[in-house]
Amino acid sequence: MRWTIYVDLDAYYVSVELRERPELAGRPVIVGPPPAGGATRGVVLSASYEARKFGVHSAQPAVQAARLCPEAVWIPPDHAKYGRVAAEVRAVLGRFAPDLVPLSIDEAALGVELPDAAAARELAVNVQAALRNELHLPASIGAATTRTVAKIATDRAKPGGIVVVVPGEEAAFLAPLPVRAIPGVGPKTEELFRAAGVATIGDLAAQRPSSLSRRLGASARGWILLARGQGQDPVEEEPGPRSRSTDRTFPQDVASWEPLESAVRELAAGLAATLAEEELRYGSVGVAFRWADFTRTQRSRTLGASAEGPEPLARAALRLARDLWDDERAGRGRAIRTVSVRAERLAERHQRQVSLDSFPPPARPRGADDA
Ligand SMILES: [Mg+2]
Repeated sequence: MRWTIYVDLDAYYVSVELRERPELAGRPVIVGPPPAGGATRGVVLSASYEARKFGVHSAQPAVQAARLCPEAVWIPPDHAKYGRVAAEVRAVLGRFAPDLVPLSIDEAALGVELPDAAAARELAVNVQAALRNELHLPASIGAATTRTVAKIATDRAKPGGIVVVVPGEEAAFLAPLPVRAIPGVGPKTEELFRAAGVATIGDLAAQRPSSLSRRLGASARGWILLARGQGQDPVEEEPGPRSRSTDRTFPQDVASWEPLESAVRELAAGLAATLAEEELRYGSVGVAFRWADFTRTQRSRTLGASAEGPEPLARAALRLARDLWDDERAGRGRAIRTVSVRAERLAERHQRQVSLDSFPPPARPRGADDA
């Protein structure tokens, strides 16, 4: 039976920083641009659970976080370091499953064949222990037979827990949860659901698309399928083995450029770290948005010469994202649910002097495949 073991590192940036500054353990710590003078537009990237008790959360304006928790210790972000550690995480996860989909810098889905729920739990326990013992990183893990259900299970497991959804019990697991537990349902969508009499995922599963589409338009069907545990996984594209991609579904739909920009930066840094780990160069970069109504637009660009390292990838991804945002959002006036960054035309590093297309595909590298 096919399982997804969904791994989400707890307070990732903070946990990475605490490896070097263990004396800060147990204190409110915020990774983000320190709000000097109160004029910054920066946002919190990650907050320790101690800081969260004050109401601090990621994507919150730094100024507001500083007001809520004046005693917090601020650490400026070091994206290159988080990318390097993400590659260490992938190396550990890759030992447990050859089919590894990195979904963001601190989340990954392992695809594995397992006989039953007990085996899924045992694997999750082992993965969690390896991350803790070898990398000193705490993780929450959800296991289920679809990726979306596994992701929701992971959210229930935070922080530091494991939740396994027994096959056949997906709908029963989801039913009592509020619709907000579905990745991508923010306050606006929640309000639309509420107006339609839908409070829990169980209420949503019982809806007919035709009755819900009056309020939710074309996205109604997608939400209902998700609620029934039948939803498609967030990334439907199937890039060939010679590409790598990573994506992020926002906790709520994003309608402004700043959070999108920082997500693209982080995704690009994580992806570059994966490619460096695999000793791959890239010749093309792509960016895709999934909008709140589940439609998808994408754009890609072939680089003049194949590149390596985080800079060209981040630069190209940001330009593509900005263009796509400017062109598409103006006409649509819509918000973004998921953003993905992709690297294509991959080649092993030692092939750098030769045209990418003159070689047969390299042996399928371990890990990080978009299967
Ligand atoms: Mg996390």
